[in-house]
Amino acid sequence: MKKLVTILCAATVGLFSASAIAKPIKIGMAIDDLRLERWQKDRDIFVAKAEELGAEVYVQSANGNEQTQISQIENMISRGVDVLVIIPYNGEVLSNVIRDAKYDGIKVLAYDRLINGADIDFYISFDNEKVGEMQAEAMLAAKPEGRYFLMGGAPTDNNAKMFRKGQMNVLQPQIDGGKIEIVGDQWVDSWLAENALKIMENALTANDNQIDAVVASNDSTAGGAIQALDAQGLAGKVAISGQDADLASVRRIVAGTQTMTVYKPIVKLARTAAEIAVKLGRDEKPEANSINNNGKKDVDSYLLEPIAVYKNNLDATVIADGFHAKDDVYQK
Ligand code: BGC
Repeated sequence: MKKLVTILCAATVGLFSASAIAKPIKIGMAIDDLRLERWQKDRDIFVAKAEELGAEVYVQSANGNEQTQISQIENMISRGVDVLVIIPYNGEVLSNVIRDAKYDGIKVLAYDRLINGADIDFYISFDNEKVGEMQAEAMLAAKPEGRYFLMGGAPTDNNAKMFRKGQMNVLQPQIDGGKIEIVGDQWVDSWLAENALKIMENALTANDNQIDAVVASNDSTAGGAIQALDAQGLAGKVAISGQDADLASVRRIVAGTQTMTVYKPIVKLARTAAEIAVKLGRDEKPEANSINNNGKKDVDSYLLEPIAVYKNNLDATVIADGFHAKDDVYQK
């Protein structure tokens, strides 16, 4: 009898541990804004990889609304997710909701943008200061002297500040040396093209169209600015940067109306993030390659390298990587 009980117990324990291993990790992915092309790619690749690893993913987009994002995260917490993957709209306001998540034992991965002042477990992104340096270097190569307009990203986005820091690392010595002059400096709410368009129209009016370069922090804002430049017959004459290698932007690079973009291999980011999220869900420690302090703690981080893209290396970068098809880029 004793033997039978032992066997039964062993079988039950075996059953339990088997079901514990088989239980899928539940991931809640809270995305700032799926209206921008870039985040649709991130979502698709992340979800595919996470599912391949046996996880279940619930995705929500806040469409650039702070309160909506907080409610969506609260909802994911009550659905009992194991891991939250957050692309924050505002990286400064999530410490309370993250405290609630941690109270429930949920792991938190900050995706692409750092979340400040909160007890997050991991941060994955690109070297964002380097992105800004690449943008400014490209503008200086195109216009070594002249009148520069700075078009920053969303003021609520930690990355926008890092891009600006990188831009200034490169521009400040030229400003100090009198080679370039900053004739305007604005930040674009929610990174939206329509806001960038208005800002650029006003900047052109205020400067009597005397602008040589626009240090735009990403492709959506560059797109809006180029529309304003085009209306004044200046598209292709004024140097302008970007970021994300959006299809519209690489087409503008081919057409000569945008000088460059910064390509960030999203496939690598999203797949690595999915691996990290699943590891966090299994209480494993993901591999970090750097540490970033978010004002609350030193956060284990994994940062990837951005790539500057011009007309002459489009084929060798975004096309060779399969990020865009050659026919789509050259519209053949
Ligand atoms: C990202 C950029 C993106 C921007 C707007 C930033 O945080 O790093 O790649 O263009 O947000 O969505």
